[in-house]
Amino acid sequence: MDVIQILRTIQNDPIHLLDAEIPHASYVPLDLSVDNSELKTVDITAVSECQHYIDQVLEANHARVAYGGYLEKRALYSKSENFAGPTARNIHLGMDFWCVAGTKVLAPLEGTVHSFGNNTTPGDYGPTIILRHTLGDFEFYSLYGHLSEASLDGLKKSKIIHQGDQIGTLGVAKVNGGYAPHLHFQLIVDIQEYDGDYPGVCHETDLNFYAKNCPNPNLLFKL
Ligand SMILES: [Zn+2]
Repeated sequence: MDVIQILRTIQNDPIHLLDAEIPHASYVPLDLSVDNSELKTVDITAVSECQHYIDQVLEANHARVAYGGYLEKRALYSKSENFAGPTARNIHLGMDFWCVAGTKVLAPLEGTVHSFGNNTTPGDYGPTIILRHTLGDFEFYSLYGHLSEASLDGLKKSKIIHQGDQIGTLGVAKVNGGYAPHLHFQLIVDIQEYDGDYPGVCHETDLNFYAKNCPNPNLLFKL
């Protein structure tokens, strides 16, 4: 058994990550990859254009949450110095859930607070929380990025979190690193020395390592 097999065995009824009053039937897949021809005329690095595109997808599908992005190669980071340089990072390691700012973020599994922080570099996560989970003999972590600043108020390391507890809300572009509001959710097997932060995007030369260390979050949500 490994963490991936353990995650596959969790068969609880819908596991909620956002406000449980939004049914999974209101979720629609979103393709933000460089292969999506609809994005050819959209500058998704501009918050308003990105939001407009997402709103169109939501409206066309009568949906409230647009999700996706695991191992997606994206142009979203091309303007941010945080990802630039000769080893430019553009492969997304988590799953994103695009929904209005202020939407409740819930713990999908029980755990404890491993760490948290406000990663304020433009293009980064902004307010971020990492939880530690134990399933059987395995320990792994989940990361929640692009939260509101209030999500970190009064938080303490090792705080016990129950499944379904509200751990925060989605932040606005001004505090979330400069993006249309969304939750970045990532599973991490080995957190290494990271604290309140972990790479959410990688260069393709590092993809083998990260794809293994960061399993597909949809193993949990089964959307
Ligand atoms: Zn993301």
